[in-house]
Amino acid sequence: MDSVEYLENQDSFIVGLRRNDTIDNIEVDRIIANVGYSPDNSLYSELQVHECYASRGPMKLSAALLGASSADCLDQSSMGANTLKNPEPNFYIIGNKSYGRNSTFLIRVGLSQIVEVFSLITGDENLNLYENILQERSV
Ligand SMILES: Cc1cc2nc3c(=O)[nH]c(=O)nc-3n(C[C@H](O)[C@H](O)[C@H](O)COP(=O)(O)OP(=O)(O)OC[C@H]3O[C@@H](n4cnc5c(N)ncnc54)[C@H](O)[C@@H]3O)c2cc1C
Repeated sequence: MDSVEYLENQDSFIVGLRRNDTIDNIEVDRIIANVGYSPDNSLYSELQVHECYASRGPMKLSAALLGASSADCLDQSSMGANTLKNPEPNFYIIGNKSYGRNSTFLIRVGLSQIVEVFSLITGDENLNLYENILQERSV
């Protein structure tokens, strides 16, 4: 695709399609961008992060997800603190980005990952971040 122009009065688009040195301008009602999805890793591109070749998520977690028995995103739990470790010391990728191209990430998993990362940082396996916050609020 070479260019896109929106025609406001007709609520349509003129799309310029390039083939070799020729451009064909066609008019369309809708544009559906099936361009795939992959994480923006620019934040850690110079750190020691081993990405999965297939999903582009961090390797340990990607391998664990690959071995997960169910493909149902609602039937999943966090893969555990050790899967969040990277070759780069003390650097963790959590949230949607940790799943790379996998589409099964849920915010519930991300909240568990936060607890796990804090247990890694503090070295306290039993630390439950949310429990402590709730206790402080009730005081
Ligand atoms: C169509 C769709 C439906 C979904 N439905 C559900 C659902 O029902 N329930 C559910 O739990 N989950 C759902 N999800 C998954 C959902 O994306 C996550 O649960 C949640 O939004 C992930 O939160 P996050 O903070 O990890 O990532 P995001 O919400 O993606 O936030 C990451 C932020 O970081 C920013 N960012 C990225 N790279 C950089 C960088 N290099 N520098 C600075 N900023 C950067 C991004 O711009 C973005 O604002 C759905 C996802 C999609 C696409």
